[in-house]
Amino acid sequence: MADCIFCEILAGRVAAEVVHESSKALAFLDVFPAARGHVLVVPRAHVPTLLDLGDAAVGDLFLAVKAVQAKVQRALGPAGMNVGWNHGLAAGQHVHHLHVHVIPRFEDGGRGIQVMGSGGDRAELPAVAAALRSA
Ligand code: AMP
Ligand code: ZN
Repeated sequence: MADCIFCEILAGRVAAEVVHESSKALAFLDVFPAARGHVLVVPRAHVPTLLDLGDAAVGDLFLAVKAVQAKVQRALGPAGMNVGWNHGLAAGQHVHHLHVHVIPRFEDGGRGIQVMGSGGDRAELPAVAAALRSA
């Protein structure tokens, strides 16, 4: 897609440090790494979010994520990793081509992605669950 930096990388028109390739996905180092070995895994198809990705491509993307995690573990030996993606502007997505961040953590005791939430009300769990089940 025009004006998409990740499509430009996929097309070979913009350089990237590619670390893994498959027929449906590509993985390369984040150019502004949040940690040593911060990798982005992208589907070859231009889709803004996971909700736009065809079901048949979802498995390929996550096989690539798994392969990248294994490579990161073997090569860099982190203590852990945060793996996930920003969905939508409000969640910090700035490149609107789906990408999964693999961010190695080199120290024990790090906090998980829950810290990014705004907090919910435990008393609402049944109502929220009911809403989700019926959606
Ligand atoms: P997000 O905020 O989830 O959309 O993350 C986009 C990520 O893409 C950021 O972490 C950027 O550092 C990274 N990024 C932007 N341009 C490039 C590029 N040309 N090569 C590699 N990573 C990039
Ligand atoms: Zn794209």
